Amino acid sequence: MRRTEAVVIGGGQAGLAMSRCLTQGGIDHVVLERGRVAERWRSERWDSLRLLSPNWQSRLPGFRYQGPDPDGYMRMPEVVGFLERYARSFAAPVEESTTVLAVEAGAGVYRVTTDRGAWEAPSVVIATGHCDVPVVPEIARLLPDDVVQLVPTRYRNPRQLPAGGVLVVGASASGVQLADEIHASGRPVTLAVGRHTRLPRVYRGRDILWWLDAMGVFDESADDVSDITASRRQPSLQLVGRPDHATLDLPMLEGRGVRLVGRALRAERDRVFFADDLVAHTVAADARLARLIQRIDIFAARTGLEAEVEPPEPFRPFLWPRPAPTEIDLRDEGIRSVVWATGFRREYPWLKLPVLDARGEIRHEGGVTPAPGLYVIGLYFLRRRKSSFLDGVGRDAMELTAHLATHLRRAA
Ligand SMILES: Cc1cc2nc3c(=O)[nH]c(=O)nc-3n(C[C@H](O)[C@H](O)[C@H](O)COP(=O)(O)OP(=O)(O)OC[C@H]3O[C@@H](n4cnc5c(N)ncnc54)[C@H](O)[C@@H]3O)c2cc1C
Repeated sequence: MRRTEAVVIGGGQAGLAMSRCLTQGGIDHVVLERGRVAERWRSERWDSLRLLSPNWQSRLPGFRYQGPDPDGYMRMPEVVGFLERYARSFAAPVEESTTVLAVEAGAGVYRVTTDRGAWEAPSVVIATGHCDVPVVPEIARLLPDDVVQLVPTRYRNPRQLPAGGVLVVGASASGVQLADEIHASGRPVTLAVGRHTRLPRVYRGRDILWWLDAMGVFDESADDVSDITASRRQPSLQLVGRPDHATLDLPMLEGRGVRLVGRALRAERDRVFFADDLVAHTVAADARLARLIQRIDIFAARTGLEAEVEPPEPFRPFLWPRPAPTEIDLRDEGIRSVVWATGFRREYPWLKLPVLDARGEIRHEGGVTPAPGLYVIGLYFLRRRKSSFLDGVGRDAMELTAHLATHLRRAA
């Protein structure tokens, strides 16, 4: 049994940011990582993926992107290198290849059991990631056995897929990127679209994330939104990071020949049924985008940015997608694989403490759980909208470290 003041579970950006702040605060700790540092960026992302956020937005406590291409988007090996350098920059006490099997309450301390021994500490920080387990809808089980099914964390490139058509379900960042890539490989792609957030990559000459950053959208906290639960369930942004800064949205995909359909509802063997809601979702996404663009223009005018940025660009709504079928027969259409890009959920089978809600999510207020000394970091909109991003987790780590330090003083 080894003892320390804080055990951090997970060696991604959230665990490392926490470790940097604990180091800064002189708090003895260990980071337990079942794989290697930045494991999910190494082994759960597809080959062509680049960051969606521009490189300058890779900012962690005491560390930031300083490479030659601040406006570009890092490839996965570069992100891994970035996080490895971060860990080395403060000699993060990471124990790699160490899987946490149980976190239990002991006498005034937590007992953390791993496959390589146990730890005891008065505080524990869970940093096992918001994008933990891919969500696969129930209908997946109803599809015929000879249809290949994949989730984005297992997808690498189109060569993995059998010849024939592909159904991609989900049109947020992962879904639109995979639909585009698979279509470009010469396979007919059908994309099932639900609620989504359409965005241009660049507006008025600036990256759309630059605008959101400048306007303080990413800094919005739970107090700034009317319904934090709804905000936490928002779909990811429909964006791709490419050297040419291209936009990737539904009009573009449809123009290239990707067939769009509504939300996948149910399946009966080879037949898959879709909601008749494609138009409703695209209209709603356009309305949200139109409001955002108007907000950007007002912001530019109010802050005197007009002179620095390009003139307003006309907004082009997705006028009318082609009529979408509400039923397709996979066999008749030669569709041999389905990719479920339907988001992520989180699993904590090792967490033996009464802090999970009915959905299995950790109950918390800004990362502070009801169990004294137990924290969670890295979840979407944990303390503010950017909490799960490379650019946002740092501030949360600083604030949670301050809370944790107070807990340690009290516990002592
Ligand atoms: C496809 C995709 C693209 C993204 N692009 C961007 C982007 O461009 N910009 C941006 O800012 N954000 C992006 N994100 C969001 C976010 O930055 C990533 O999800 C990032 O990986 C989150 O870091 P994290 O440290 O919170 O969690 P993770 O990176 O998921 O790290 C959690 C770590 O915990 C470890 N772990 C889990 N369970 C255990 C256990 N029981 N014991 C020990 N270790 C355990 C895992 O191995 C993992 O290394 C993207 C996410 C996805 C899915």
